[in-house]
Amino acid sequence: MGRVFNFSAGPATLPEPVLEIAQKELLDFKGTGMSVMEISHRSAAFTEVIEKAEADLRSLMNIPDNYKVLFLQGGASSQFAMVPFNLFSSRKKADYINTGQWSKKAIAEGKRYGDVHVVASSDDKMFNYIPEITRDMFDPEADYVHITSNNTIYGTVYPELPDTGDVPLVADMSSNILGQVYDVSKFGVIYAGAQKNVGPAGMAIVIVREDLIGHALEGTPVMFNYEIHANAGSRYNTPPCFAIYMAGKVFEWLLDLGGVSAMEEVNREKASWLYNFLDDSKIFNSTVKGEYRSIMNVPFILPSEELNAKFIKEATEAGLSTLKGHRTVGGMRASIYNAMPPEGVKKLVEFMKKFEVDNS
Ligand SMILES: *Cc1c(COP(=O)(O)O)cnc(C)c1O
Repeated sequence: MGRVFNFSAGPATLPEPVLEIAQKELLDFKGTGMSVMEISHRSAAFTEVIEKAEADLRSLMNIPDNYKVLFLQGGASSQFAMVPFNLFSSRKKADYINTGQWSKKAIAEGKRYGDVHVVASSDDKMFNYIPEITRDMFDPEADYVHITSNNTIYGTVYPELPDTGDVPLVADMSSNILGQVYDVSKFGVIYAGAQKNVGPAGMAIVIVREDLIGHALEGTPVMFNYEIHANAGSRYNTPPCFAIYMAGKVFEWLLDLGGVSAMEEVNREKASWLYNFLDDSKIFNSTVKGEYRSIMNVPFILPSEELNAKFIKEATEAGLSTLKGHRTVGGMRASIYNAMPPEGVKKLVEFMKKFEVDNS
């Protein structure tokens, strides 16, 4: 079977050229006679891999020098605990914004370690928007404010970042890191699971401002302490070597394409094809409107469960894979991350057009 267009929310499609390079290097990585999975994480060959990956990510995101970049195990979900462990330094108070299931999980974990206040939520409308946020909603004494920049399940994105004043802003950027341009200096911490827009699962990227490192709660497990990992250059223990290697290849691919702003332009165009079609369609409906629409995850529905099921089945047969929506939203969801080629989205829209003609 040839490669399909894979609209999975995560683990998600990876750039084909990256997979090809990985395949080519698999048995003999750079003349070592071993694969990159089989060499020491302290070897010269792997040191080059991790240092290049960090340098390329710094250049892609324009990360200022006073931020550390960490490649850690445990995915994004470990960060739900790692953030409070490291940032509840004095007052053990934090403000969270609830924009979906991932926010809820972060909130639940934060509550185990301190005084977590949910200052705004969009759960009244099935999370189909981002609540209005003003600076006076935040506690100026809080240790941090936590947001989920892009909501993978509901397909929403912050149209602008909240102004938190002097309180560090922490963002779970799992599903839109490198998909659109962000000013890293506006954040205290950015974290992201790799398997949406960066590489294979099993790794989190953490970008943390240096002054927030070194104040972890007493009793913080060594593996959950940013300071330990920062001092060891992400090699306190064995890091997720293969994921780091693959992420590095994705960074190189992205740099070759012109970086994040060029990618964002392509992403906006891809998303606009889908949204424009959805807005004109008589049978397909977009579940998110206006400025909150994500350019990474696009949920949509048909008028009946039968039609949803028929659509997913026929789309799969046409080589448009993994379009089933999240179980809590139903319908469909097209995840169109960086690695989804424009042709894939074009083919999807063509398929939807034909489906509409055939079924109305
Ligand atoms: C996928 C996802 C997570 C969970 O990531 P894991 O690596 O599986 O822990 C957390 N937050 C967001 C926004 C996600 O999309």
